[in-house]
Amino acid sequence: MLNWSAVRKLLIVILALVLVAIIVIPGYKTKKQSEIRQVCQWRLEQMAKAQEKYFAQYGRYVSELTEISGDSLNFTCPLNDSPFILDMPDSTHYKLSCPNRHGWVSEERASWKQE
Ligand SMILES: [Zn+2]
Repeated sequence: MLNWSAVRKLLIVILALVLVAIIVIPGYKTKKQSEIRQVCQWRLEQMAKAQEKYFAQYGRYVSELTEISGDSLNFTCPLNDSPFILDMPDSTHYKLSCPNRHGWVSEERASWKQE
């Protein structure tokens, strides 16, 4: 014999849990995405610093990221580990950008610090 009152209570509990999930999950994803973007932009900044250091020493920027990457430098986006894109019109100009559109750095500028 089915106890309809118990079934109804159970349905209400399930509905409440679904509603909570609908509210919480997108917020969690957004937080996760902004954390990934921050790590990505931090990595881009570190690469930019390394580029400036290299430039100060050799008068040109590196054309291969592996030349300056080391233990502390990472030139991949944390989202999917795809490497940053280095665009160099010549040895004294460069633009390093994230393939997942998290931003770019170019000489002393960064896309997320534009005015
Ligand atoms: Zn990225």
